[in-house]
Amino acid sequence: MTPEVIVTLTLIAATFVYVLLCWILPFARCRACHGTGIRRTILLRRVTICRRCKGARMRLRIGRRVYNAFHNANTEAARAARAKGGAR
Ligand SMILES: [Zn+2]
Repeated sequence: MTPEVIVTLTLIAATFVYVLLCWILPFARCRACHGTGIRRTILLRRVTICRRCKGARMRLRIGRRVYNAFHNANTEAARAARAKGGAR
């Protein structure tokens, strides 16, 4: 096996694992609050709700967000085509 083949197979395997992860576990821990849902402000160190996850503690993975965007666009296109076809 040449190094190029090994790198290619590794990238394909990593992509497959990430897609599987986005399918099985679409939500991951929030990076800003580390899954606690609260943050401390820089001034006065007050406890506030995390602004990024709004206290939900979880975030949608980027891969799942991309999948949802494609899925929604496809659904909208199909709905528009159906509406256009039904108007005739
Ligand atoms: Zn958060």
